[in-house]
Amino acid sequence: MLEFTDIEKSFEGQPVLRGVSYTLAAGEILVLLGPSGCGKTTLLRIIAGLETADAGQLILDGEDLTKTAVHERGFGFVFQDYALFPHKNVYDNVVFGLRMQKWSLEKMRARVDQVLALVGLAGFDERSIHDLSGGEQQRVALARALAPAPRLLLLDEPLGALDRALRERLMLDLRTILKDAGSVVGRPEGITAVYVTHDQAEAFAIADQVVVMNEGQIEQVGSPTALYRQPATPFVARFLGMGNVLEGMIKEISRGDAETQREFVIETALGDLVVSPLSLSPGGGEKQVPLPLGWVGGGKVSLLIRPEAGRVAGADEVENVIHGVVVDVSFRGRYQIVTIRVGDAVGEVVLKLEMETAVSLPNPGQPITLSLDKAAILLLEGG
Ligand code: ATP
Repeated sequence: MLEFTDIEKSFEGQPVLRGVSYTLAAGEILVLLGPSGCGKTTLLRIIAGLETADAGQLILDGEDLTKTAVHERGFGFVFQDYALFPHKNVYDNVVFGLRMQKWSLEKMRARVDQVLALVGLAGFDERSIHDLSGGEQQRVALARALAPAPRLLLLDEPLGALDRALRERLMLDLRTILKDAGSVVGRPEGITAVYVTHDQAEAFAIADQVVVMNEGQIEQVGSPTALYRQPATPFVARFLGMGNVLEGMIKEISRGDAETQREFVIETALGDLVVSPLSLSPGGGEKQVPLPLGWVGGGKVSLLIRPEAGRVAGADEVENVIHGVVVDVSFRGRYQIVTIRVGDAVGEVVLKLEMETAVSLPNPGQPITLSLDKAAILLLEGG
């Protein structure tokens, strides 16, 4: 549907996008996720036509968009700062795009009613923009962008200016609104959207597919579940908030319990760890690819120890047992986060592990012996 290929862009000789490619399906919500400065807004602006790429192609439904002006692309926009007309009421804001397209009064009325109901603001027509909360204003902006049934909806940090409570609420509603919008505005294939954020929770709540960007390149593409299950690289793992990343060397690869499974023994600062990953899936796909015996034999790897990997070890356990000292225990309701330090000052590793609140743990400063579940340790690309 929308295809961008090898997009490159530099500002003052500094590359900001370095060969970015992706194809969106009709009705897909794509989230561009990455830290500040990774180039996601620039990519969105290139798709919008507000910025020109130095190289690469942009094709929508078979049509090359490079020469199509912004207002001829038929896209909808929602920005962080609402960009509403502050002196007009809600109706006049939402109807704006329809007036531009010279819809009849009756049709405009009906469509405004439909989209206001969609965003949860039925009956708000006469309200002044000044009297609305930030969240309501952003719903108006969304209704306005959706009313003309855009070929593509572009959203740049739309929740960025909202306080935490409003942000959480609209975040939960947004995906439903976008998914329902297609049938409301007469695009049965669904509204296709590109959404920019630096917030991982927002990306997970809203996306069909997430493109994780790092320094102008795509680091990983996948559904929220796929990214969570198998972050491909240390960058993605850390960016998604999984901080237990460490380096190791592969010592041994053997057959695991199941016919297609492989087990690795990896030498790390925590000692030798047995790892039984389902896959090392390049690109973060959900396929569970069995790794070949002899894969990168002896190479350097990065490991992710999932926060749920740790258990207090029984006396007779030997596999993946680590001895550390409790640094901190933080109560989070259903679970607690225990920070432990393993090793001496030279080879020290700090792990944060989540454990059920019912598990009683030693006090800070006391020793602890844990075992790590070999299935909750992942191999990452790029050691
Ligand atoms: P943020 O969330 O902070 O906006 P981002 O990932 O969206 O980050 P971009 O806004 O795309 O990043 O910016 C990428 C880099 O390009 C930044 O270093 C930024 O300073 C630079 N940049 C963006 N637009 C311009 C411009 N018009 N002129 C010069 N440099 C620019």
